[in-house]
Amino acid sequence: MSKIIDGKSFAASLRAEVASKVAVLKERDGIVPGLAVVLVGEDPASQVYVRNKGKQTVEVGMQSFEHKLPDTTGQDELMGLIDQLNSDDSVHGILVQLPLPSQIDEKAVINRINPDKDVDGFHLTNVGRLSIGDNGIVPCTPLGCLMMIKDQLGDLSGKHAVVVGRSNIVGKPVANLLLQENCTVVITHSRTKNLVEECQRADILVAAVGRPEMITGEWVKPGATVIDVGINRIDAGDGKTRLVGDVDYASAEAVAGKITPVPGGVGPMTIACLLHNTLQQACRINNVEVPE
Ligand code: NDP
Repeated sequence: MSKIIDGKSFAASLRAEVASKVAVLKERDGIVPGLAVVLVGEDPASQVYVRNKGKQTVEVGMQSFEHKLPDTTGQDELMGLIDQLNSDDSVHGILVQLPLPSQIDEKAVINRINPDKDVDGFHLTNVGRLSIGDNGIVPCTPLGCLMMIKDQLGDLSGKHAVVVGRSNIVGKPVANLLLQENCTVVITHSRTKNLVEECQRADILVAAVGRPEMITGEWVKPGATVIDVGINRIDAGDGKTRLVGDVDYASAEAVAGKITPVPGGVGPMTIACLLHNTLQQACRINNVEVPE
């Protein structure tokens, strides 16, 4: 097996699996999963994400509903749209693209989404379900990380996992998932003392820091599995930019047992897991089995 964890091909096979299950669901139960994506404003990066999500949603045979609102949109209007999507039977997943403009209370909007349609897994109910090990909706990027780790390592029981970063969208949910898999989990952050030594103990090292190439080979235990969630755009020196992770790939790759590259590692898994979550919820909401 290759040392490099190929997220691009893993995501492609997950999307193919979702597509075949969507086809069965349509045929067997007459249900077409629907994903609604709400974009407020014109942030260029968000526009690209939303376009990609819409395209991939249609490619797996689901219905895609895009709602693009101006950046002057008020709280009440956005809440009204969420209510409308909550009660729309053809919508099984609702994703509000973050960040939202400053006049909008982001938490209030996320918590207005019906928890069963919260395919991003950010609603307090789903955060709570994950923390007590209940069967809720798991945020997409952390779910993608776990799928890749399990695919590489199988049973994770007893492994020492170190997560660098404690954000609500990546660090904490990844740590919770690894805990559920019976890892011994250490969550580190900007105030952690002896960060390098903490990382050197990791069988599984997950980097979700947002600092380009911070984690070098010296931090990695020989043979460890390294998952790099970071997406950082840096100056390539020739007037262009390039994408790098939070891990210094060249030095870490020489020591790690397995490692995700950037780009082509965790990144492609996020939308694939979004489609996976939407399929799961379409089945759950309609009270039918997820096709085998
Ligand atoms: P946040 O900025 O929300 O969190 C960063 C975390 O890293 C914080 O907990 C912070 O600690 C910690 N941190 C910052 N500096 C240090 C340091 N010097 N030493 C130790 N810890 C540090 O980032 P996100 O979790 O949202 O994202 C992390 C990375 O993942 C980013 O590069 C982002 O672009 C990427 N990302 C990729 C996704 C994908 O689809 N692949 C999806 C989401 C994010 P503290 O809490 O103490 O401030």
